[in-house]
Amino acid sequence: MLLLNEEAHLKLNELKQAVALEKRHQYIDVMGKRQRFSQFAHLRLKELTEHLLEEETLGKLLARFARYSEADFGFRLHSVEALEAFVYDTLNPKRQQHLSQLQQQASGWAPIATTPVWQIPLHHAKGVGPKLLHTLATLGLNTVEELLYHGPRQYLDYQHHLRIAQVLEGQRVVLVAKVLSLQNHELKNRNLQVLRMKVSDGTGAATASWFFGKKQSGLLHAFKAKHPVGTEVLLSGLVKWDSFNRCPQLDKAEVQVLSYAEEGAAATLEGPQEGTGGSAAPKLLPLYPLTQGLHLKTLRRCIQQALEDFAPNLQEDTLPEGIRQELGLLTLTEALQGLHFPTTLAQAEAARQRLAFDECLHLQLKLLLLKQQYKQSQQGLSLPRKASTEPEALCQRFLESLPFTLTAAQERAFAELSRDLASELPMNRLLHGDVGSGKTLVAALALLVAVENGYQGALMAPTEILAEQHYRSFVEWLLPLGLNVGLLLGKQGAKARKEVRQGLLNGQIQVAIGTHALIQDDVEFANLGVVVVDEQHRFGVRQRSKLRDKGPLPELLSMTATPIPRSLAMTLHGDLDVSVLDELPPGRSPIITQLLSATQRQEAYQRITLETLEGRQAYIVFPLIEESETLAAKAATVEFERLRSEVFPHLRLGLLHGKMKPEEKEAAMHAFVSGQTQVLVATTVVEVGVNVPNATVMVIENAERFGLAQLHQLRGRVGRGSQQSYCLLVANNANEETQERLGIMEQTTNGFVIAEHDLRLRGPGDYLGTRQSGLPAFKFADVLLDVELLAQARQVAQRLVGEATPWQEAYPLLAGRVLHQQQATAALLGSG
Ligand code: ADP
Ligand code: MG
Repeated sequence: MLLLNEEAHLKLNELKQAVALEKRHQYIDVMGKRQRFSQFAHLRLKELTEHLLEEETLGKLLARFARYSEADFGFRLHSVEALEAFVYDTLNPKRQQHLSQLQQQASGWAPIATTPVWQIPLHHAKGVGPKLLHTLATLGLNTVEELLYHGPRQYLDYQHHLRIAQVLEGQRVVLVAKVLSLQNHELKNRNLQVLRMKVSDGTGAATASWFFGKKQSGLLHAFKAKHPVGTEVLLSGLVKWDSFNRCPQLDKAEVQVLSYAEEGAAATLEGPQEGTGGSAAPKLLPLYPLTQGLHLKTLRRCIQQALEDFAPNLQEDTLPEGIRQELGLLTLTEALQGLHFPTTLAQAEAARQRLAFDECLHLQLKLLLLKQQYKQSQQGLSLPRKASTEPEALCQRFLESLPFTLTAAQERAFAELSRDLASELPMNRLLHGDVGSGKTLVAALALLVAVENGYQGALMAPTEILAEQHYRSFVEWLLPLGLNVGLLLGKQGAKARKEVRQGLLNGQIQVAIGTHALIQDDVEFANLGVVVVDEQHRFGVRQRSKLRDKGPLPELLSMTATPIPRSLAMTLHGDLDVSVLDELPPGRSPIITQLLSATQRQEAYQRITLETLEGRQAYIVFPLIEESETLAAKAATVEFERLRSEVFPHLRLGLLHGKMKPEEKEAAMHAFVSGQTQVLVATTVVEVGVNVPNATVMVIENAERFGLAQLHQLRGRVGRGSQQSYCLLVANNANEETQERLGIMEQTTNGFVIAEHDLRLRGPGDYLGTRQSGLPAFKFADVLLDVELLAQARQVAQRLVGEATPWQEAYPLLAGRVLHQQQATAALLGSG
């Protein structure tokens, strides 16, 4: 079994994102923050040669990306596809196989024996010869099903499509025409070259121009290669008069390829009059993602034929008829028809909804299956919480020792996880609570239940700072109960490490806290019972399970402070039980947040001065302006010197950044926790979980560079005690959009509200960072917009799974489909 290390995994995921970006930009060798796509791909591939054994494949890919920027469109397309396939296969292969085996074993059912008629390979489809077969394959279309599900990117509304002879100056138009010529000229005295396209639609000619910098020759040539003479294109833009060519000219035109000319055969756009099977003329023309050598017309004909020959009848519809009617969705055939040949946009949308619902339902069923399997695959430990009268009752003693009582939400979460632990089924629960909601305490209780039952507990944190902080809390909490707590970090010396390892092996240490160091092969436990993973999204799936595998039987609690909007929670955590801490401990006054411009920075400094006079502490945070922590560290260091000598000469300042040596970091953190330093100047390393209740001011520099979710996390570092706290966001060039975005921070401290905004602004890919961005690849559903659909699908899936007759038996077609489509789940899990 291929085991990717974390680094290789990260690089592959970066490549995956870059590929998506390049595809979205139509293979122009898109410019990233520091380099072009091809340079980036080449670099990453080269680095991967150290991690992966596939020398031959890597060699070929390297060669491709070395000349990518100079190459033509076709070459680029193939290269990107080859890279995509490589990344996908490397991230997923055995996993997929393994999963499907698991699923079959665990649920005792196999996919239906006969292939549904519409999953047949494309060469069985009428009118698809070897050449076309090959062309379709480059688009990833290999089965009839894939062809039928190859949806249009958009629909061209014929009512808004004009003939060139009809257009008027000042009009915004959409034209369908053929490329007559494409020429570039250098512009005198300027660093520009212009590319002029001349097109004709039979009624007249028109032109459009695009400008490229002198250094953008690669781009220009790619553009030319993509639009050879004879290509049928869709042009949209504002009409002006081209006095030189004496014809209309489209200003700032957008161009889209409809079809490529093929030798001998003139490409003509299938007009509205041709209709679909003689029915009423459609007013909408679907525009598909095409590839070189594939006509829109050919593709349409293929799809039309496949629909006639293979469209599933009602008995072959995977969606149970009762559910379909109840939800008022189209039949599958209606939906496929409506997808490709709609007469109205409403019809196209209804079709999309039905197909999107299928995607959501399949995903939810898969997630529920996974959940079932997890519960059934291993027997869990039965760890009942001891009653307060019993001598081992640690939880009770612990709770009594605290200066406060649990919040209602903590009580509820503890009750839920106690039930999991007491039951024979293994626990697999996610504790989901906003920053400061008191998750650590709940984690401590979970670990204590293990100890009460004679087992050990372990907590894994993503950073050393956090692990050390947890360690301090746990020592403070558990030492008085007579327990030993051990700390394992990567930076530890051999001697300290050996001591802790021995304590874990012989059982003298009951609770272990640590970073990744906990999951090294040489760490063994006497009898590990409960495992907690803090900030779980910071770890890969594999790392989480590696820690779990250290014990005989897994009881797993994951924690996250990332407030996740409902739609995402349903897709990302559908296979977990979830407890939510939706309440903060009492006595906290809401943090006052204020947006400042750079010129108002003095106000932030004044606030720091005021608060430190009261004996409080402050953070000043700098973002990773440069993408590397090294450069950010430098920037923070320079600022630190300036602040110390010029702004706060009377205060004690500390510096914390990711490039400091572990001992230095620890010393800096310790100095701040103990109050020796009053102001901590830091990069975002303070982001996660740091807990210093005496800190009441958080100044965030260059706030405009942070995402809202990250700002929320940072802000959570203050307001952790009973004092009034402040968060001051200094934005350097606050345009209107920035003002509005950061304004959300002023308006609310509710993490869920902020998360919704963030998701809307940045999209789901960005949302959870690289490691958990493995969202299912929906073709029709939109994780952001189809919240209702997702919720309905979740309900239906739960109902199906809860039915007396196993749903796999009742609906074999649906079951076959769910099993067949492993991809989304594999991608979801492959993110670790
Ligand atoms: P997070 O959920 O962000 O990990 P922590 O577990 O770090 O939050 O808790 C934040 C602070 O609140 C800590 O100082 C903790 O001791 C305190 N705390 C936790 N639970 C309670 C409670 N029920 N009442 C008062 N303070 C609490
Ligand atoms: Mg925490």
